[in-house]
Amino acid sequence: MTDSAGKPLAPGPEYLIRRLTVIGVGLIGGSLARALRRARLVEEVVGCGRSLDNLHRAVELGVIDRYSQDPAVAVEGADLVFLSVPLGAMAPTFSAIRDHLAPGAVLTDGGSVKGSVVADARQVFGQVPERFVPGHPIAGTEHSGVEASFAELYRNRRVILTPLSTTDPSAITRVQAMWEACGAEVIHMDVDHHDEVLAATSHLPHLLAYALVDSLARLHENDEIFRYAAGGFRDFTRIASSHPVMWRDICLANRAALGQMLARFQGELAELAAAVERGDGDGLLGMFERAKAARDRYVGRLG
Ligand code: NAP
Repeated sequence: MTDSAGKPLAPGPEYLIRRLTVIGVGLIGGSLARALRRARLVEEVVGCGRSLDNLHRAVELGVIDRYSQDPAVAVEGADLVFLSVPLGAMAPTFSAIRDHLAPGAVLTDGGSVKGSVVADARQVFGQVPERFVPGHPIAGTEHSGVEASFAELYRNRRVILTPLSTTDPSAITRVQAMWEACGAEVIHMDVDHHDEVLAATSHLPHLLAYALVDSLARLHENDEIFRYAAGGFRDFTRIASSHPVMWRDICLANRAALGQMLARFQGELAELAAAVERGDGDGLLGMFERAKAARDRYVGRLG
């Protein structure tokens, strides 16, 4: 797998990746490994994480071949390293692998906020490494851990890459090919723009779902309210079952863009509350019609 200098051998014609190291073998990292394995595009997958139970299970499920709990050991000789730990663990992980990456290795990640990951990389490495390609798969579920991973997660989904002007084009090509092999469509975006767009479309909705469930749960200190909840409540609040640590980290990492979206939304909510209070049926109907038309267009585009 490596030559005498410890440099990874060039991938053979049949493998896109000879040795893939996945740090954080959960939903996102496990699904990437499964998809690449299914496509027979990776020769060996090395996993890394904290809990032995999850890593053992990842071996049992055939998601990884072997593991180390030490990120420095796990990245040895890897030609591609994928970081899929919560955002708060990115900086310590960069520090742990900094002096152990094989020459020529490509480094990429799946973190949901890109500004914080790029800042962490800059702080740990002194400058953002040329062969680091920040990325974010726009795919997921409310479940976590390797048990939740599946090979089709990225099929027909989008992956956003946010390379910098200094990023090595050959590293971008490699990461793009990896995601396309998983069935994803890859698009490129500026780091700040990514974080603004995701604050609106993903981070704010998660915050609202958590807030609604928490406020109802505290309003009625028993389960009565949930007993009478129907499908609409279940649909709206599904994402409040997502991993709390991951979402705490996302809110902290994207607090500037999320703060702006929250302020804007608070204004909308205040207008809605005023319309309800004064019995403004026309105002409510106008808003509901606009929202329905926008959602119908969005769902129609999904096909
Ligand atoms: P997950 O299923 O909980 O997996 C995260 C993995 O990281 C776990 O296997 C965990 O294993 C490991 N981990 C947690 N804390 C760690 C630490 N401090 N040091 C080392 N390893 C640690 O979460 P996920 O949904 O795959 O999310 C992973 C990343 O993808 C996050 O950055 C998230 O923002 C991003 N993302 C998530 C989604 C989504 O919908 N879920 C979508 C796109 C992107 P141990 O606990 O055993 O260490």
